[in-house]
Amino acid sequence: MRTLKNSKLLFEQAQKSIPGGVNSPVRAFKAVGGDPIFVKRAKGAYMYDEDDNRYIELINSWGPMILGHGNELIEKAVADALSNSLSFGAPTAKEIEMAELICEMVPSIEKVRMVNSGTEATMSAIRLARGYTGRDKVIKFEGCYHGHGDSFLIAAGSGAATMGTPNSPGVTKGTAKDTLTAPFNDFEAVEQLVAQNENEIAAIILEPVAGNMGCVMPKEGYLQSLRKLCDKHGIILIFDEVMTGFRLSKAGAQGVYNVQPDMTTLGKIIGGGMPVGAYGGKKEIMDYVSPQGPVYQAGTLSGNPIAMSAGIEMLKYLNENEEVYTQLEQSTKYLAKEIEKVNASLGYNYTINQIGSMISLFFTEEPVENFESAKNCDTARFGKYFQAMLDEGVYLPPAQFESWFISTALSTEDLEQIVEAHKKVLTSMS
Ligand code: PMP
Repeated sequence: MRTLKNSKLLFEQAQKSIPGGVNSPVRAFKAVGGDPIFVKRAKGAYMYDEDDNRYIELINSWGPMILGHGNELIEKAVADALSNSLSFGAPTAKEIEMAELICEMVPSIEKVRMVNSGTEATMSAIRLARGYTGRDKVIKFEGCYHGHGDSFLIAAGSGAATMGTPNSPGVTKGTAKDTLTAPFNDFEAVEQLVAQNENEIAAIILEPVAGNMGCVMPKEGYLQSLRKLCDKHGIILIFDEVMTGFRLSKAGAQGVYNVQPDMTTLGKIIGGGMPVGAYGGKKEIMDYVSPQGPVYQAGTLSGNPIAMSAGIEMLKYLNENEEVYTQLEQSTKYLAKEIEKVNASLGYNYTINQIGSMISLFFTEEPVENFESAKNCDTARFGKYFQAMLDEGVYLPPAQFESWFISTALSTEDLEQIVEAHKKVLTSMS
């Protein structure tokens, strides 16, 4: 049996100086019960806690560590960059390399601006969409999460959903009234909102494959219909690919579904584990950003040389080794299939949504295609499952409304071990 003595002590100490003891809410394990585990280090497919327990990694920093921990190419690039100083606040050649790589890999992006997080990317993107169109309102989808910018904390997924605060205090009524929401995968609802707000909608923003209400794929033709609607009404279509970018393909979800947004927001993988985000898109829109255009957006540490070095190495690797995506898909499909087999043998028909290296096991037997259906899940049961999986040495994202993130570091034996753990845990819960 694991001991968690050091984690417990650290959590007690952390709560005295850090709100809730954590620097991002889901880390507190509120949705699954129990105390958070404090991490000491990670390598490859494994993470080790402060009591030296080992876990197979299915969270991977919520996505960035798609090649597993301690990738040698990335670490070497960071080490090389370190000797030239940590930050300049002046332009560098690395920023051009990064921008060119992104534009090459994601063809809908003609110009791109680097920021420091996914939140910054989405906040900046909608400011730009508003400035460019001269309109105020945006449409987002229930259960999609776009970071913690005020405009997005309306019916938000991820931690905001599991913490039961989908509409956060502190967001003014003025801001909230400019965010309209529709159910994911319901095209008619969006059409109606657009009709009711003719010439007032600046942007429609969505996760083209949602990951923040668990993994939820768009229905066939849904993204194409949104594209057409935006074209008809002069609305900027923003794909928030902070999670799916460079994960579902080297051109993200837009590469898989073959739909070109006007703008794309990026984060996670783009920094290789460093704090990085980016927003980009059509030239004429991006040229509206300061200093070329009137929409202001800036950052002291934006384009940071260490972060760029890590990100460039990550993207170069993915660009040059496209077979990574086949491998990731195979591993994830294997997990989906084997988990489903175990479930069936125990008489459960739980919904599993999987695409590429994103997968969610929902504790409901109903299909999950929007936030409403995701909420059918037995979250208490997920909490028990999560804790029992930890006991078996498997570290899942600590909430039902999240996707698991598969990395290339997982070996066949690791995958088998995850399935074995699932079997043992679900059997004990039957
Ligand atoms: N958009 C999406 C789709 C995300 O998944 C996230 C984070 N999980 C964000 C935006 C916010 O990114 P960050 O946490 O880096 O601010």
